[in-house]
Amino acid sequence: MPDVMRADLWHSMAGAAGLINADGTIGETIYGQMTALAANTGAVNLGQGAPGTDAPAELINAAADAMREGFNQYAPGQGFPALLEAVAQQRSQDFGHEVSPQHVLYTCGATEGLTAAILALLPQGGTVLAFEPFYDSYPAAIAAAGGSLVTVPILPTTEGGFAPDWASFDEAVTAPGCLPSIILINTPHNPTGFMFSAQDLARIGDAAVAADAWVLTDEVYEQLILDGTPHVAPAVAIDDSARVVTVSSAGKSWNTTGWKIGWVIAEPEVREAIQTVKQFLTFTASGPLQVGLARTLSGASTFVAENRSSLQQRADVLVPACRAVPGAIASTPAAGYFTVVDFSALTDLDAFELNDLLARRYSIVGIPVPALCRAGSPAHTAYRSSIRYSFCKSAADVARGAQLFDELAAELTQDPDALRRQT
Ligand code: PMP
Ligand code: GLN
Repeated sequence: MPDVMRADLWHSMAGAAGLINADGTIGETIYGQMTALAANTGAVNLGQGAPGTDAPAELINAAADAMREGFNQYAPGQGFPALLEAVAQQRSQDFGHEVSPQHVLYTCGATEGLTAAILALLPQGGTVLAFEPFYDSYPAAIAAAGGSLVTVPILPTTEGGFAPDWASFDEAVTAPGCLPSIILINTPHNPTGFMFSAQDLARIGDAAVAADAWVLTDEVYEQLILDGTPHVAPAVAIDDSARVVTVSSAGKSWNTTGWKIGWVIAEPEVREAIQTVKQFLTFTASGPLQVGLARTLSGASTFVAENRSSLQQRADVLVPACRAVPGAIASTPAAGYFTVVDFSALTDLDAFELNDLLARRYSIVGIPVPALCRAGSPAHTAYRSSIRYSFCKSAADVARGAQLFDELAAELTQDPDALRRQT
């Protein structure tokens, strides 16, 4: 058969995402690897951010009705008009982001929206500036577009929160010869829950104008606000909103990560450019689910608010248990469904080794945060022994995770060096 390396874009995408093993084999994404680790060790899986509670009945019924009504063939390329209308309304109602259905494009999850936007808008050899840690699809999409990634770290602060390293941002947006063509902002941020303020976003907007860059957003956690701070949509805070391309999806807000319904919102001519790429990736998908979501978004469902308080309850079970481990620093997230736990005071192991040890000896699996960083970067160093735990799992899994952390805490209280001695 022909050599698979004859065309090597797939290999560069895997390389950019850090998926090439030392022996040259291709590894699974960190989410797949950690799900397998939990399955193989019988540990509680607090890794992949896949909710352990179900989508609401009204949404499932609306999608089932759409199937029975015959919405079972290809959807229109831009998406069903009812969905485009419902998304435009939701943006205005929830975030004061005024757009028309002409601005909205249905995509197969935020992942396709981000990849299609990067493919459409990044010049060959162009630079994307993203904040780090980052979602694993970003570097792969940038590699596919023939571009390069520069990163600015979001780091823990002494007050127990997180903040971008603005000095490093200012340097990156004025770097001679490699000004970014796209500034990519994930807010609320995975994994830290950091939320960019209106001032932060205005600063990014000014830098984007000076560099003549697009601002591409990833707002998939926009509804999962835990501490009451309102989510600020970058397109609202940035004066030159025509350069903002907004991406979000229903997966997190509606416990439907398997439905892959996302959207891109941009000026109509920009939306058209992105749609031109998107149509040759999937053409369309999820027809009846789009119709069901449209009806539910514009209906009277109270699910999103209920889910927020249910997530807060699960955070209130897991975070204190992590924090009770002597020496561990567990973040209280402002948004999203993760806590980041820094174990560096307890162990010399890096997050991968420690996660493995915690899986085998204590039955707990999370996502090592360095997997969401670039080897050798300041973020990679800062999060060397940090693990992300998801509290979007079922109440039973979260309670089991909390109990296992309690047991670890009890053991370390008796014997503070217990972890240090284990390998
Ligand atoms: N961006 C971030 C920051 C994420 O955590 C995720 C994970 N779901 C995605 C994008 C992907 O979203 P979707 O499932 O809608 O493609
Ligand atoms: N976004 C989810 C997370 O960060 C996982 C998505 C995936 O498995 N690709 O956990």
